[in-house]
Amino acid sequence: MNSTTRRILLYLILLSVIITVAAALSLAYNLNAITDHYQQLAQEMGRTFFKELVIVRRWNASLGGIYAPITDRLQPNPYLDDPHRDLTATDGQRLTKVNPAFMTRLLSEMPDHTAENIQFHITSLNPLNPHNAPDDWERVALQSFEHNAVEHFAVVEEPGGRFLRYMGRLVTEQACLICHAKQGYQLGNVRGGIRVSLPLAPFEAAAADSQRQSYWVHGAFWLITLTLLWVGGILLLRNVAQLEGLNRYMKDLNKQLEGAALTDSLTGIPNRLYFDQQIEANMRSAQRYGMAFSLIMLDLDHFKQVNDHYGHTVGDRVLREFGQIVKQQLRLTDQFARWGGEEFIIAAPHTLLDHALAVAERIRAAIAQRDFATVGRVTVSIGVTEYRTGETAMALLERVDNALYRAKANGRNRVETS
Ligand code: GH3
Ligand code: MG
Ligand code: MG
Repeated sequence: MNSTTRRILLYLILLSVIITVAAALSLAYNLNAITDHYQQLAQEMGRTFFKELVIVRRWNASLGGIYAPITDRLQPNPYLDDPHRDLTATDGQRLTKVNPAFMTRLLSEMPDHTAENIQFHITSLNPLNPHNAPDDWERVALQSFEHNAVEHFAVVEEPGGRFLRYMGRLVTEQACLICHAKQGYQLGNVRGGIRVSLPLAPFEAAAADSQRQSYWVHGAFWLITLTLLWVGGILLLRNVAQLEGLNRYMKDLNKQLEGAALTDSLTGIPNRLYFDQQIEANMRSAQRYGMAFSLIMLDLDHFKQVNDHYGHTVGDRVLREFGQIVKQQLRLTDQFARWGGEEFIIAAPHTLLDHALAVAERIRAAIAQRDFATVGRVTVSIGVTEYRTGETAMALLERVDNALYRAKANGRNRVETS
């Protein structure tokens, strides 16, 4: 796996993690919001229930209480201190007064409410009826009303399940004083509260439905996003692999082209372009390290005649064979190139003039002794020179060319220096 592929995979994994974390956070937030929403709904219902009771109570109080026939289930309110509590109608029917507190208690005891599981309880820190004494939770709520709170609510576990308890405060109004003035209450005093308990089960069932939907939506979003991400990622990886394959191929091709550009196609040895690139580098390192560096230039003798006698094809073959023989005489560090036509050149790093002359002589002898196919004997003239510190490549080449000229002038098949 190369670095680009690794990086893309890393990004894909990182994005997957980010998407997963974002989806999980969003889901958690949503689930929480749904729970909150349904609790607020329950709370609002409790508040509404309380307000309705207050309206009914106010109506009752405004009438100074209402009368109802005394039955087995409706007995006079023993806590109502009123000379007109019980009356007898003209037809002999016995009636009793139902004041707001009594009415609230009677309502709270109606079987319908218990069946619905909605319960309420009128209570006070100072009740006339001990039945209206607060439980612990209600006491805390009532105490908070003493400190100006207008309502109190909480989710509580009760034997019948989880309930939202809502409690609103009851404030002394003009009509209340008819009965409660003797307790010392004044207009505007907090007299108590009504606690409404709503079962949370229906709200929780509705919330569970919404939460299930939220799970599905988030799950689907997560799955689709990750699928798209990875399908895209895999396609990208494939393209990258193809591009990299192409890149490798181009690099190979480039190397081949570079090799071809620097190689002489006839002899297979480096060409003049290659040599031009090398000579500067050789001169620089010779100068920097104070090392010797020699040049050897070779030119086949009377090569025109070879072509004229045997034809160009034979001439070409002689050039190739010549190249191979010279190569055999050289060290690995020597740089051998075709200079042009039937001329060749050798750069010999770390080589003093004397040694270069010996090499040249060895080459000359090897060629002279060689029996070339078809042609027979071929000779070569060689010029040798050693690099002088500070001189230019052009000056060096001119000197080696002069040496070669001297070899030609002095009868060919020989080695000269300048
Ligand atoms: P000298 O001893 O003075 O060097 O004589 P020469 O005939 O070798 O020199 P000249 O410069 O007169 O001729 C060089 C010949 O080399 C001319 C050309 O036909 C031949 N030649 C140059 N390049 C090639 C090549 O690639 N193939 C072949 N077959 N011949 C070549
Ligand atoms: Mg020549
Ligand atoms: Mg020649």
